[in-house]
Amino acid sequence: MIIDSHVHISLYNDNAKSLPDAFGLFLQEIERNEIGAAIIIPDNIKGSENIADLEKAIELIGERKNLFLLGSPQIIQRGSGELEKYKKLLEEGKIKGIKFFPGHDPYYPTDERCLPYYELCEKLDVPVLFHTGENSGDSECAKWNDPKYIVEIAQKYPKLKVIITHYYWPKMDYCYEITKDVPNIYFETAAMADAEVIEKSGGIEKVREILQKTIADRPDKVIFGTDWPMCKIDDHIKLVKSLGLGVELENKVFSENSINIYKLLV
Ligand SMILES: [Zn+2]
Repeated sequence: MIIDSHVHISLYNDNAKSLPDAFGLFLQEIERNEIGAAIIIPDNIKGSENIADLEKAIELIGERKNLFLLGSPQIIQRGSGELEKYKKLLEEGKIKGIKFFPGHDPYYPTDERCLPYYELCEKLDVPVLFHTGENSGDSECAKWNDPKYIVEIAQKYPKLKVIITHYYWPKMDYCYEITKDVPNIYFETAAMADAEVIEKSGGIEKVREILQKTIADRPDKVIFGTDWPMCKIDDHIKLVKSLGLGVELENKVFSENSINIYKLLV
């Protein structure tokens, strides 16, 4: 089975006219790519018509048992003020972890307003996920999510599962080196098969090398994700299949690691 652990329900390049349309398209895409389960990451902008927030995502998912959610607190607007809300959602199993958007939003992972969320996630043994790297057309924003800050958090909370997504592209070598001795850092592959990410990060061979090294170091800690609809699911499947992992490791990356780390009941 393949689990896509990083998708959004959003309007992108005229893919759909409304969020219910985008959700329909998502269901088609996962069926076409034989994705058995997925983790949907809601946006932290509430009430947007272009990307599903948590309430909208819960409504769209309905009773489906193979679709899961993360929380995404508004650090800039509400500081630590949503802690109780996310505690309840995590305890009830309605969300499986918390995503932070440093770089989309101007705060560092070490920001004091984030710390109560890390404490909560460490206590409940659920992961936190950090958006990292550049945004398309904006390299400045990567200063907010430099993995050196993420290493600081992982060391401050040694039992917290700290997941890095997008591998701090285009500086993947730097991200590999600075994280390699920190055992509670995990990686998730979203956007690593995207053409712009590959080109700016040094080419497909570089991306493969980074993933091969990371999976060799952390066979239980690399998770498959795509960032659909901004990135293509099939390109990401092809990338993982091109790594020559063998069946056992490939199964870990495609599904088992996500099931264990996010504690999914699939
Ligand atoms: Zn994403």
